[in-house]
Amino acid sequence: MINVQPSNFIEELVLNDIETKGLKEIITRFPPEPNGYLHIGHSKAITVDFNVAKKFNGRCNLRFDDTNPVKEDVEYVESIKEDIRWLGFQWDELRYASDYFDRLFEIAVDFIKKDLAYVCDLSAEEIKEYRGTLNKPGKNSPYRDRTIEENLDLFYKMKEGAFPDGSKVLRAKIDMASPNINMRDPIMYRILRATHHRTGDKWCVYPMYDYAHPMSDAIEGITHSICTLEFEDHRPLYEWFVNHTDFEIKPRQIEFARLQLTRTIMSKRYLKKLVDNKSVSGWDDPRMPTLSGLRRRGVTKEAIADFCERIGVAKSNSTVDAGLLEYCIREDLNKRATRAMVVLDPVKVVLTNFDAEEYLELENNPQDASAGTHKIPFCNEIYIEREDFKIDADKKFFRLKPEGYVRLKGAYIIKCETYEIDEQGNVQVIYCSVVKNSKSGHDVSGIKTKAVIHWVPVKYAVDVQVRNYDYLLIDGDEDKDFSERMNPNSLKIIDNAKAEPFILQSKPQDKYQFLRLGYFNTDYLSSRDKLIFNSIVSLKDSKGK
Ligand code: ATP
Ligand code: MG
Repeated sequence: MINVQPSNFIEELVLNDIETKGLKEIITRFPPEPNGYLHIGHSKAITVDFNVAKKFNGRCNLRFDDTNPVKEDVEYVESIKEDIRWLGFQWDELRYASDYFDRLFEIAVDFIKKDLAYVCDLSAEEIKEYRGTLNKPGKNSPYRDRTIEENLDLFYKMKEGAFPDGSKVLRAKIDMASPNINMRDPIMYRILRATHHRTGDKWCVYPMYDYAHPMSDAIEGITHSICTLEFEDHRPLYEWFVNHTDFEIKPRQIEFARLQLTRTIMSKRYLKKLVDNKSVSGWDDPRMPTLSGLRRRGVTKEAIADFCERIGVAKSNSTVDAGLLEYCIREDLNKRATRAMVVLDPVKVVLTNFDAEEYLELENNPQDASAGTHKIPFCNEIYIEREDFKIDADKKFFRLKPEGYVRLKGAYIIKCETYEIDEQGNVQVIYCSVVKNSKSGHDVSGIKTKAVIHWVPVKYAVDVQVRNYDYLLIDGDEDKDFSERMNPNSLKIIDNAKAEPFILQSKPQDKYQFLRLGYFNTDYLSSRDKLIFNSIVSLKDSKGK
């Protein structure tokens, strides 16, 4: 008996296998195809694969499932490694399915020798036609009864390049009448002259996923091959391949539900399209649900871990509200983001009775006393948000209005005396007086205010660029094709936002809460000369409003 509390059905199955099959070590793998960058859905699979291994003191390999040379690239291999490390996981061994090409070929030869595989000359269309449908059994290929000798000869010749692409395939000899279409003599090998990112032009035959995957698992000694539900129907085939080989460890396939998130594209193929047609700036565009995009946006790995924990692991598909991910991001950033004041749409306020200059103190994070404070200069001209001043304000408007009072964060209460507007009616400047004895923390003025607004001193204001991001997809219509749901307003750039001088210290990836505005991340491209901030998430759930 081992002393482990399973926390989901996968861990229960694994525990049961340990107890009934006497497995000595648990080995799992995360098997991405290097045909794109990882997205938030992959983080669920990564978390499951690595955590199951960890829980049972086992190992987890990273294996690149690189059996399709046409779509794969080293750029993707590198990004996948970086993303997994960023999430905080470390693989035990780094493997490539392409490392096994020789071995996979030999095993296929064994299948032929056992009369369990044959070379078939039907065209792709004919194979499809012969396969039948869900209601109609398939029929045997006329090439199914080739002798073992003939099959061996043809298979070697396929490898040597004797036949054109697509002219022959190697098929498993199973059952053309099986109710499971995957069992109707699936293809094991195809002829394809394509340069592979690791093996170059060595091969002109490549194994198919359904064959390569179980065999790669078996070669590596994987005990539990965890994958997503769309492979459930492939499990009998997985077992067929595994059970017709002599590997000591017979890996077991376990499926769980894919992560689906509202308003989120979860397909590498489609994400690649957005990159290729320049709808986004790249795989790491902060709007992308890729791990590199989320990282650049400012989402932390702790928020992703919390999210993966909360969604759990289930056996049936469901769609998670993107609001849950936002919630996890907000919870985490609240604990770690530095508070700062930034005005996005500035209007100038002149403080008519104040001509001193003084330094005030602002808490870096009220949630964390150890974060300390920073200084902000206060002088007779400040910027406030244009929308924090209203001329024809009703009683419910508690911010600045003519004759009204409002508190400036960390500073004083001010009273609006007068203002100037231009010909279009836009406010040009507001004149206020500072209320005596109203300094924050020492307020004995007796004046009550119902709102606190943020501000930035004009003299010391720093120009920053703020990039406000929204979802790539518009809300609703989850069933519609992505292309019909693109959000035309997913990026708004604000070029001359005004920030307090403290912001000059920021380095790429530093995270802030801009008071009253939301959470922001310092972009990779940000520098002292051009400060750039990416919006991460709002302060509150906007859906609740
Ligand atoms: P995509 O359809 O986005 O290209 P994929 O399944 O083809 O995804 P792979 O590189 O084959 O991507 O995935 C590696 C592993 O990640 C697989 O085990 C796969 O099941 C898992 N995975 C992919 N997408 C999700 C998801 N949305 N939720 C959970 N696991 C996922
Ligand atoms: Mg795939």
